[in-house]
Amino acid sequence: LDEVTIIGAVLDLRSKPVSQIMTPISDVFTLCTEDILDETLVDKATGYSRIPIHAPNDNGNLVGMLLTKRLITYDPEDARPVKELPISTLPETGPDTSCLDILNYFQEGKSHMALVSADPGGESGGLGIITLEDVIEELIGEEIIDE
Ligand code: ADP
Repeated sequence: LDEVTIIGAVLDLRSKPVSQIMTPISDVFTLCTEDILDETLVDKATGYSRIPIHAPNDNGNLVGMLLTKRLITYDPEDARPVKELPISTLPETGPDTSCLDILNYFQEGKSHMALVSADPGGESGGLGIITLEDVIEELIGEEIIDE
């Protein structure tokens, strides 16, 4: 890491739109409300901290997200559908929101993931997702390697 690079990246946050650093929707691991959480699916899901949830037969219609820490007390033998688990709100923002604004939003603690949509609140579906880690990686100019 280099301090000068980081300071430059801080000053760029205001003018950089989230669309430039988001994870495109085609790369996002999602679950359907009807998916049955058996052992195989729980194993896959716990590779992520947050998983967007979509409605049946409509990948683009994201209805919320599962915080996988909620699975700590879940028994895969129960094989329950995703819709029976506590589903959190997935906030939505537009592609032109600045990285500084989304960082401020994440800092408020309501969520550390947001859906990026062309038409937030509309029917357009998501373009991608953005998380606190995406913004921090942008700040340090390097990838944060997961433990
Ligand atoms: P995690 O804790 O699951 O590793 P982070 O919030 O630390 O997630 O984000 C790490 C990277 O993975 C970011 O680029 C983020 O956009 C991406 N990411 C987060 N959740 C998902 C998901 N469900 N599917 C695909 N990529 C994701």
